[in-house]
Amino acid sequence: MNSYKTPLGELKVKVFGHASLLFQINGKNIYVDPYSEVTDYTGMDEADLILSTHDHYDHYDPKAFNEILATDTAFIVSESIGKVDHRYIPLANGDSCEWDGIKIYAVPAYNIERRNEDGNHFHPKGFGNGYLFDFGGYKVYVAGDTEPIEEMKELPKLDIAFLPKNLPYTMTDDEFVGLANQLKPAVLYPIHYFEIDYPALSARLDKDIIFIDPNKA
Ligand code: ZN
Ligand code: ZN
Repeated sequence: MNSYKTPLGELKVKVFGHASLLFQINGKNIYVDPYSEVTDYTGMDEADLILSTHDHYDHYDPKAFNEILATDTAFIVSESIGKVDHRYIPLANGDSCEWDGIKIYAVPAYNIERRNEDGNHFHPKGFGNGYLFDFGGYKVYVAGDTEPIEEMKELPKLDIAFLPKNLPYTMTDDEFVGLANQLKPAVLYPIHYFEIDYPALSARLDKDIIFIDPNKA
């Protein structure tokens, strides 16, 4: 687990694999896109908050949710998932909320080029969310399933970015590198990849970016 200093307290970050993350801060457990195919959640810390970026099985996995569920777990989900029960807070692109002092912004995440066999985008505009977390000024961006999109130009200076790369759903290596060098987060985590050539990507990234080796995270 890596840890980072934020104005709200120490933030610990765990990447389980695929797009599945855990943030721990001030004794709270915040899971993003928990996915039971990449890890066994049985016996893990109960979730205070679960976020899901969109309604695809690798991001919205009720089996994983059930394994970390507490009676008072809150959910922040995309509008496409909706208000499954009273605990769910659906956010559309552009919506935001505050949870336990953390500001959470739902930002666009979508495909421009990549389509399924039927010619439809895997992730049409508005279908899913990226999430921008503001821990008292410390900004953490979880991009969701997306290609580089113009709305990303409006993102603030990022302390940590989690960017996806894989075909046919998200970004090519070139897009990943280009976007990372444009956003220039202080720390970069690659997610959602099927394969990764860490040294090759690393060599092409801005030297100021701390690129986390997923095999060591
Ligand atoms: Zn997806
Ligand atoms: Zn996905």
